[in-house]
This record gives sequence, C-alpha cells and structure tokens, in this order.
Amino acid sequence: MSKTPLPLTPRPAYAVRTHCPYCAFQCGVLMGEGDGEPDRVVGDPHFPANGGQLCVKGWTAHTLLRHPRRLTTPLVRDKPTEPFQTASWEAALDLVADRLATIKAESGPEAVGVFGSGALTNEKAYLLGKFARVALGTPHIDYNGRYCMSSAAAAQNRAFGIDRGLPFPLADLAHAEVVWLAGSNAADTLPPIVQWFDRQKAAGGRLIVSDPRRTPTARAADLFLQLTPGSDLALANGLLAVAIEEGLIDRHYIAARTNGFEAVRRAVLQYHPARVERLTGVPESQLRTAARWLASARSAMILSGRGAEQHSKGVDTVHALINLALALGKVGKPFSGYGCLTGQGNGQGGREHGQKADQLPGYRLIEVDAHREAVARVWGVDPASLPRKGKSAFELLDSLGPQGIRALLVVGSNVAVASPDMGRIEARLRALDFLAVCDSFENETTAHAHVVLPVYQWAEEEGTATNLEGRVIRRRVTARPPTGVRGDIDVLRELAARLGIGEKFEFYTPREVFDEFRRATAGGPADYAGITYERIDAEDGVFWPCPSEDHPGTPRLFAERFHHPDGRARFFPVEHRLAGEEPDETYPIYFTTGRYLEHYNSGAQTRLVAKLTSARPAPRLQVHPRLARRYGIAAGSVVVLESRRGRAEFAAELTADVRPDTVFIPFHWGGRQAANRLTNPALDPVSRVG
Ligand code: SF4
Repeated sequence: MSKTPLPLTPRPAYAVRTHCPYCAFQCGVLMGEGDGEPDRVVGDPHFPANGGQLCVKGWTAHTLLRHPRRLTTPLVRDKPTEPFQTASWEAALDLVADRLATIKAESGPEAVGVFGSGALTNEKAYLLGKFARVALGTPHIDYNGRYCMSSAAAAQNRAFGIDRGLPFPLADLAHAEVVWLAGSNAADTLPPIVQWFDRQKAAGGRLIVSDPRRTPTARAADLFLQLTPGSDLALANGLLAVAIEEGLIDRHYIAARTNGFEAVRRAVLQYHPARVERLTGVPESQLRTAARWLASARSAMILSGRGAEQHSKGVDTVHALINLALALGKVGKPFSGYGCLTGQGNGQGGREHGQKADQLPGYRLIEVDAHREAVARVWGVDPASLPRKGKSAFELLDSLGPQGIRALLVVGSNVAVASPDMGRIEARLRALDFLAVCDSFENETTAHAHVVLPVYQWAEEEGTATNLEGRVIRRRVTARPPTGVRGDIDVLRELAARLGIGEKFEFYTPREVFDEFRRATAGGPADYAGITYERIDAEDGVFWPCPSEDHPGTPRLFAERFHHPDGRARFFPVEHRLAGEEPDETYPIYFTTGRYLEHYNSGAQTRLVAKLTSARPAPRLQVHPRLARRYGIAAGSVVVLESRRGRAEFAAELTADVRPDTVFIPFHWGGRQAANRLTNPALDPVSRVG
C-alpha cells in the first residue's frame, strides 16, 4: 500500500490526518494540531476512500467542538419533569452507579440495560459490551445499528460466512462494468462515492439504480427502475428468473463455489417478467435490460442501501440480491460482487465487537460455547458468568418500564428520534426508573434522563473505526476538550470501580483498550489481532481480517473461498411477501423515509450546525403533483400526515420525483416533524431490524 507523503502546508493549521465523525465513508480530513480550536476541516487528498472530497457535513463538523450548547458539566435531577441541576462528576457518577446497582439488586441484572451506537469507536463499542456483560451482568445491550445495516449483516453471514459491508475497496467501483445500486441514494448520503461512479462511467461503465424516488443518484443512472416500495425482493428474483430463462447464469461457478442453487432456481421460476412487472411496477423491457447488463458484463456489482434492507423482510431481500450475484458468477471475481453500503460512522466496527445483543468481540456469537470461552479467557472471567443473548434494539426499548428494564444507560444514541414508532418509545422512556445518557449535547433522549454525562467529541480523543470498506482507520486528537468534559472510557472505568469490578476496567487511554480488544478478537471472524495504531498510520488503514502483525490485511474477500467451513457460498430461496403494512382504504398511501445531504441520522448534531440548518431548516413532505391535486395540497402548505401509530406535520414539496402512490419524508427531526412518529416497528424475523 502506498505511503504518500502528507501535504504539510499550510502549517500548523492542517497538519493532523484524521477522519470525519459522521458517516461510514469516514472521509480522511486534515485538521489542526490538537492544542486549540480548529477553524476549518479540509479533505485529505491522500486518503484513498475520499481522495480529498468531503460533503458539507464534513466541512462543518468542527463547529460542534466549541458549540455554545456543548454540555460541560454533568446534569442531574430526581425526575425528568424537573429542571436539571449541575453536579460534580464525582456526585453524578456516584448517583449513576448507585441507581444501577440498586435496581439490579432489587430486580436482577435483567432490569438494567445498555444502548450503544454505531458512532462509537471500536474501543468504546468493545468496552461498552464488556461493561454490560461483566460489570452489570445484563444480557440487554444493543445499539442503533440494529435500525440500519443488520439485515445485510445477517444475510451476508448466512450466505458468505462473514459480514463485511463491502468485500472490496471503494476504488474497485471505478473498474466495474455495471453497478446496480438497490435502494441507496448514495449521491446524498455518501457524496464522495460519486467520484468512483464518475470514473466508472468515464471508462464506459453503466449504472443501474432502483428506488421509489428519482433521487440525485437515480438521475445519474443509465437505467432507473422506479419500483413500488417494498418490492426489491421481487425485483431481484425477477432478474434472476430472466437470467435463467435467457441462459445467462454461470453454471460452472455455481457448481464450483456454491451450495443450494437448485432450490433457488425452482423458487424464482414463479417470478416471470409479467408477474414481476405487476409486483414492482418495473416494465418487463427494463427487467430484461437490467438482467442482460448485469449478466453479460465481465465485472458487475450489486450494492444495497437501507431502502432495500430496512424492511420486515430485509434479510430475505438481501438474500435475493446475493442469490443473483452468485448465480451470475460475480462474487469474488475482480471488481465484482455484492456489497452493503454501511451508513453509520462506525457502523461496521460497531456491529462486530460486542455491543449487539447476540454477540461478543470479533463477531463471535454469545450463544456459542467456544466463543464464550475465548472471550471469557481474555476478560479473566468464568464463561458461565457471561449472560446469554439479550433483547434487540427495538425490543429492548419496548420493554422499558416497571416490569422490564427499569434502568438504562445510553451512550451516543438519540433513541427518542431514531426509533420506529417513536411515540411508543417516548412513553417507554418515561416509564423508566432511571435513565443516564452520555452525550455532548442535550437532545430528545436526554429530555427523559435523570443524569446526563458530558463526554468528548470525535476530535478530542483518539480511537479506531472501521469504514464501509472494512478498512480500520484511526481518529486522532485535533482539539482540546472543553474543561469539565470527560471521555466515555473514563466514565465506564469510574462506574465499574463504583460497582466493585474496577480491576477489569483499568483503562486510561483508548490505546490500552485497543490492546485488549485485539486479543479479544483473535481467532474470531472479525480478527483484528494484527492491527496496530502504527500500522494504520503507515498503511492508510488496515483491512480486517488481519490475524497477525505480519499479515497484510484483506482488502478483497472471497477470491479463493467463502468463510463457511467448506469454503462455499450458500444460496437461500426467498419469496416476495407483502410489507409489514400495505396501503388500504383508511391509509391509502405508501410512506417512505430517508435522508437529506445536509443532515445525519437523528440530527442531534447536524441540527446544531448553522450552515446545515440554514440549508435544510425543516423536513419537507415530497408529494407527486397528481397526488397533491387529489388531496388539495398546495406547494408549501402544511400537511398533517397520519399513520396507524401517530400523526406529524410537514410542509409539502410537490415533485414528480416521487411515485404518485408514495410520499417521502426525511427522518432527522423530532417533535411534531418526526417521521418516526408514523413508522411501523414490524421487525425482520432474523435481523430484528426495525
Ligand atoms: S458525512 Fe460522510 S461523506 Fe460527508 S464528509 Fe463525513 S464521512 Fe465524508
């Protein structure tokens, strides 16, 4: 890997290489020296994933470091209906530890829960999982990534034996002859990715996009499939049926590298083009074109985003996409295969190292005895003392209250806005006996808290994250934290000490955590044992798996074998089924959510950035002009939207980019403009995505 010298001009303002705090692209940025307030963030031209490009969220990220609403002292109160009082750190930590210990003593360890985040570094995600299992002894820890990539993760694990969002570096996109983006508006959500599509198209490549909306990404497509919401699975099965019918599948590859094709072949024969056109709204001619382009290309990629994955049938949908990629013989070939475009900053690492309810570090499984023993050895505990599998994110939050989880510790997640059916989750948060939140700002979740602990932001402490390519990168210190703020690692160490188990949490720096974390992942599917901070610096990141310090890392997976014991990939036959909720006479319109370029997830950070809020001050309801006429909606008028769970108000934006049977709202806001007041918490039976 190249070790390009850094551009060190102008010094000293932009000398430190680090990474944007927001999305899974983890763009390389250059910032100040760590002894003051950086006045700018610029793109790092030598970081391979973004090549110097940033989106507006990255350019403005530094403004949060000295934001006037930054919390700099712990806040406490007896009841969430009372105003907060400031408190010393000692008093606040004593209170949190006492309430967690008391509720655990009264109602057992299952009465306390922990909720983490895909924004946490690997070190913090690892430590939080250990804290839940070892310090609290609770099975109930999960994180907001469960609302995000978990369907793709589950399907990749089942099909390939391993889950890494992209099994190849982003730069490979430029060399793919055909790329199908299924349910991803990457031009808005991961803007620097567009440079790779531009290069791909300049080299003669073709881009297919499927989405219910004509997004900026769709407008760049050579073929746009404007499908009915919730029909991605039928579309993928239909493309495979066409490929089989036209003799375009790769029989040699199927025989040599996969198991289970025959059952899939039989299943997809029901998906003849006329039926798929009825189910998806995509004309037969477009189906045939897409299938032929994908099959006849020497290199082709199928990449999915939340639009295809975040459904009550998300896992099956990803299986349908993987089935197609396998049947065409693309997975593991150069510039080819299936990949998931991970969303959250450390969405990849955050789902590998133990803050999921069913998981231990290194992508080990908490229900597998050998996995429990391996991690218990590193932690110096009896494997039998480790709790079993806990509740997944929505189920965890839905069980808050006197008969369930009475005390909750939330670290870096605004669950009150991010959760589906948020009215129900707000009621559950109100039913808690105790809520403690570690965050840098007050938000819709801290509004329900008894204690808020003000913690460092991204540029104030070092640590690693794993980007959407599976590349482990290092964030460095570029700003001094405000007086009065502490790190999450300090918080967990201090709480563990107060809970009487301090000797297992004697960590003072992220590097100390990373050293234990590496050992805990050794031998697991996501093996980081060979990754060091020094290697990350020298090699522009290291791709896992990397089992030893002399191992080169693994930028590309599956060239020789898949990660099942027999080395072969698995087909899974899957059937189209209706969405968890279909339009009917009372609720006659499809409703989908998504993102704006200017905002990130629950908006807890980006709604505080003046440049971003002036560009996008509020969500707007996208309505097709035909639908608007039917309901007498004028552009800019306020529309009350109601679902079976709640109602919310939005100004209308009339656009033919959305289907006439569908409305769209971004989900970055809370209060009366919260899209998640309307969403359905139907869970996928495998991934429990909500
Ligand atoms: S938000 Fe994502 S795409 Fe934008 S600068 Fe940050 S890492 Fe890059």
